[in-house]
Amino acid sequence: MISYPWLEKLHTNLSKLPNLLIVEGPAGYGKFETVYERTIKIFCEEKTGCDTCYQCSLVKSGNHPDLLVIDQENDLIGVDEGRKLIEFMSLTSSSSPSKVALINNANLMNKPAQNSILKITEEINLKNHIIFISNRPKSLLSTIYSRCQQINISPLSYTQINEWLRSLGYDETIFNFPSYFSPKDIINAINNGERDTYKNFLNTMDSNQSFADQLGFFKELKMPYLKKIDYLIDYVILLIGRNTQFYSSNSTTNRYDSMKLQNLSQFASHLINYKGRLLSIKSLNEQIGIGYFLSKLHHIKEN
Ligand SMILES: [Zn+2]
Repeated sequence: MISYPWLEKLHTNLSKLPNLLIVEGPAGYGKFETVYERTIKIFCEEKTGCDTCYQCSLVKSGNHPDLLVIDQENDLIGVDEGRKLIEFMSLTSSSSPSKVALINNANLMNKPAQNSILKITEEINLKNHIIFISNRPKSLLSTIYSRCQQINISPLSYTQINEWLRSLGYDETIFNFPSYFSPKDIINAINNGERDTYKNFLNTMDSNQSFADQLGFFKELKMPYLKKIDYLIDYVILLIGRNTQFYSSNSTTNRYDSMKLQNLSQFASHLINYKGRLLSIKSLNEQIGIGYFLSKLHHIKEN
């Protein structure tokens, strides 16, 4: 497992696992993995998370009767999951000293689901544990906060992330990745080759390639349309940022006047609105959309 030095506080807090805990901090910071690693030690016959004993094998296969993991990545966590949690907590544990429920992406839990589980947080058996892992501050009901211990993980600075990458032996900086990438996204991108894709994207966008060539590049890009739009939004923000010295500027950087910067920021909000539409209307035409946005960007940059 990768080490996440910014989670030291969490490690300390987990040494004596609280009955009710909320771990809050930005996505992709390793919160869930850290909590999970700690949790499996409760069940492990060696108490180490040995990965080989019978209890560990049950955990690994997702079949441990005393561990419930609720982990929705995009969908809301609704009352069905709330009910699952209530049922799980009301059963007596089968073989373990305690039962543990982990609710990952707890910020996706809707109000009815949160209300439905209030009672079990009130009456939790002191042998058991419910741990909420949330990517957004203040996303749960205050009544839930008031019953739980809480750990907040602060957002990292660019320097901290760069130092971390170096400590892992990577010769990288966060400027080699989209700005919205989390530390975990960065590691994944290094391992699955997306880093190179992104570098090609940046080179293509910064080059003096014709509109048609850029369009061709996008057509060849093997990624969902939504992600291409994310890349474009990020690139426009990068163009603006380079002019405000926020990002390290490179030699190809154009200095834009305030009119151009204003056009770029309008264009960025246009793209962001479009992304919102794309999330609800999946059938928007990619070919037309990318063509339109690229020509628009060309127009802004050149005029
Ligand atoms: Zn084990």
